[in-house]
Amino acid sequence: MVSTPSTLACDAVPAVLFRERGYRDNTFYYHLGDGSHAYHYNLETTSSIYFKCVMYHQLGCGGRAILKMGGEFRHSHPHNHLPDPEYVGEKHFRQNVLDDCRGRFVDHKEILDQARRDRRYSRRVRSKMTMRRLRNSMNRARMGQMCMRSSMPFLN
Ligand SMILES: [Zn+2]
Repeated sequence: MVSTPSTLACDAVPAVLFRERGYRDNTFYYHLGDGSHAYHYNLETTSSIYFKCVMYHQLGCGGRAILKMGGEFRHSHPHNHLPDPEYVGEKHFRQNVLDDCRGRFVDHKEILDQARRDRRYSRRVRSKMTMRRLRNSMNRARMGQMCMRSSMPFLN
C-alpha cells in the first residue's frame, strides 16, 4: 500500500481522501487515490475544508477542491495542467528514500536500488527516480541529520 487513509479533521467525513506527507516535515498533500489532481490543505470553515492545487506555486495553478463536512468532495476550480498520475508515487518514493538516508548509514546507491526494487511503485516511477535526480536531496537529507546529531550537547 502506498497510501494511508485519513479521516481529516472531522469524524463525520468518510475516508475518501488520502493524506500523504509532503517534501517538508509537517506538510501534507491530499488526493483521491484515482490519479486525479492532488491538493494541499488551504483553509477550513465550520462546514468545509478548502484545498489548493499542489502546483499552485510551481505552475501558478488556480485549481481548487472542497470537502464538505458531509463527505462530498469535488474539484471546484479548473487546473492549468493535466493531472499527473505518477505524482503521488514519485513523492512517496522520494520521501521514502530521504527518510532512509536520514535513518540508515548505508550507501546512497544501496538505498536507491532497494527502493527501485519496491513493487509498490509503478515501473514508470521506479525508472524515473534515478540517482542523478535524487543525489542532491539525498546528500542534504544525510548532512542535515549529521548536523542535528553533532549539535546535541552530549555528543560534543
Ligand atoms: Zn493544478
